[in-house]
Amino acid sequence: MSPYETPMAWDFSTEPAFQRELDWMEDFVRAEVWPLETVVEELGQDGFERAIAPLRDTVKERGLWAAHLPPELGGQGFGQVKLGLMHEILGTSPYAPFVFGNNAPDSGNAEILALAGTPDQKEQWLEPLLAGDLRSAFSMTEPETAGSDPTLLETRAVDAGDAWVIDGHKWFSSNGSVADFLVVMAVTDPDARPHQRASMFIVPAGAPGVRIVRDVATMEQPAEHYGRIGGHAEIVYDGVRVPKDALLGARGAGFEIAQQRLGPGRIHHCMRWLGVSRRAFDMLCERAVSRYAHGSLLAEKQTVQNWIADSAAQMQAARLMTLHAAWRIDNDGAAAARQEIALIKFFGAGILHDVVDRALQAHGALGYSTDLPLEAMYRYARAARIYDGPDEVHRQSVARRILRGYAAPADGVPSEHVPARRAAARERFADLLEAVTSND
Ligand SMILES: Cc1cc2nc3c(=O)[nH]c(=O)nc-3n(C[C@H](O)[C@H](O)[C@H](O)COP(=O)(O)OP(=O)(O)OC[C@H]3O[C@@H](n4cnc5c(N)ncnc54)[C@H](O)[C@@H]3O)c2cc1C
Repeated sequence: MSPYETPMAWDFSTEPAFQRELDWMEDFVRAEVWPLETVVEELGQDGFERAIAPLRDTVKERGLWAAHLPPELGGQGFGQVKLGLMHEILGTSPYAPFVFGNNAPDSGNAEILALAGTPDQKEQWLEPLLAGDLRSAFSMTEPETAGSDPTLLETRAVDAGDAWVIDGHKWFSSNGSVADFLVVMAVTDPDARPHQRASMFIVPAGAPGVRIVRDVATMEQPAEHYGRIGGHAEIVYDGVRVPKDALLGARGAGFEIAQQRLGPGRIHHCMRWLGVSRRAFDMLCERAVSRYAHGSLLAEKQTVQNWIADSAAQMQAARLMTLHAAWRIDNDGAAAARQEIALIKFFGAGILHDVVDRALQAHGALGYSTDLPLEAMYRYARAARIYDGPDEVHRQSVARRILRGYAAPADGVPSEHVPARRAAARERFADLLEAVTSND
C-alpha cells in the first residue's frame, strides 16, 4: 500500500457553518459599519462610542466577539486562520475591528497579557480589555532612538525598593491618548546582554508623571486632534512610580514578550490589508467598467486590464501567504512562524500600496479627492511599510534566515558551475562515453 493514500493535509476550503458567519459579517459590516465612516468626524469620540455600542452587543450575541482568543479569555478559540478570513471582511473598514473586539493595538496587548500576565493582572487589565471596557496602548518607540533597533531604547525603569520609577520619552503609542493603560517597554538592566535589558510594565494612563503630550499629526491624520481612536500619542514618562507588580512578565523579558506580541500583531495587520485591498480593487473594477475616455471604457485599455490582472494575482498571493502564516501559527505557534510572518509583512504592505495606488490612479482627480476613501487608504497603506518593523528590517531578517541554510563551496567554485560538473560527469559516465565514442 502506498504511504501516500491519505489525502494531503492542505485544505483551502472553509467550513460551511463558518462561511455562513462570514456571509453574515459581510452584510453586517457593509450595512452597519461602512456608513459610520462618513460621519465619524461629526460624531466625535463620544458619539462614535455610542454608535458602536449596540453593534458590539450584536456581535457578542452572535458569538463573534474577540473570537480568535481561546474560551478562557472570553473568545471562541477560532484561532488565526479563521481570524484571517474574518479580517478580510473587517479590514475593509478601519472601524469594524473595534466592533468585533479584535482591533490593534488591543488585540496584541490582550495576547501578551494572556501570555505573561499574573492572575491579578489578568483580572485587573485583561478581562476588562477583552470585554471592551478598557482600552490600551503599546508604548515602545521613542523619537530619539531607532525604533527598528529596540536594543537602543533609552526609557529607564529603576527599582526603587517598593516601586518602579519610569523615565522616558515615547511617541507613536497608537491609541495612547484614549488608553486606560499603557504597556511600556523600559530598560531595567542596562548592563545585561542587549536583548535582556528591557522589561514590560503596565502603567495606568492616569498615573502621576504620565504626560500625553499630543497625538502626532500624520500623513494618515494630517489634521491636529487629540484624544481620538487611531491617534498616535507622544508621551513623556516623568518619574512615573508604579507598584512592583506592574512588571509584566519576568524582569529582562521585554524583548521576548515584544516578539510574542508583534508576531500575531503583524499578521493581524496583514489580514486587515487584504480587506482594504479588496475594497480598493472593487472600486478599481467598478471605475473600469464605467469611465469612458479616448473611444472606449477604461476596462478596454490594456494598461487598466494589466492593473486588474496584476492586482488580482498579487492579492491572491498575499491572501495565501497570510493564511499560510496564520495556519503555521495555529499549528506550530507564533515563534515557529517568524519567517512566514516577516515575508508577508513586507510583501503584503507593498501589495496593499500597489492596489490602492492603481485604484486611485484609475479615478483621476476623484481618486485624489476626499470624495472617495482611496486617498485615506493610500495614506494608511504608506504607514504599513513602517509600523511593526520597516520593510527593510523584515527583508533583512528573511534573507538572514534563508542564508543560514547556505555555505560557500569549499573550493570556491559555484556548485552549479557547468565545466566542473561536466568534468565530474565525464568521469562518472566514462564507460558510456567510451562506448559512444567507439561506435563512431
Ligand atoms: C502608523 C504607525 C503606528 C505605530 N504604532 C506604534 C505603537 O502603537 N507603539 C509603538 O511603540 N510604536 C508604534 N509605531 C512606531 C513604529 O514601530 C516605528 O516607526 C518603527 O519601528 C520604525 O522605527 P523608527 O520610526 O524609529 O524608524 P528608524 O528605526 O529610525 O528607521 C528609519 C528607516 O531606516 C531604515 N532602516 C532601519 N533599519 C534598517 C536596516 N536594518 N536595513 C536597512 N534599512 C534600515 C528603514 O528604511 C527605516 O524606515 C508606529 C508607527 C506608525 C507609522
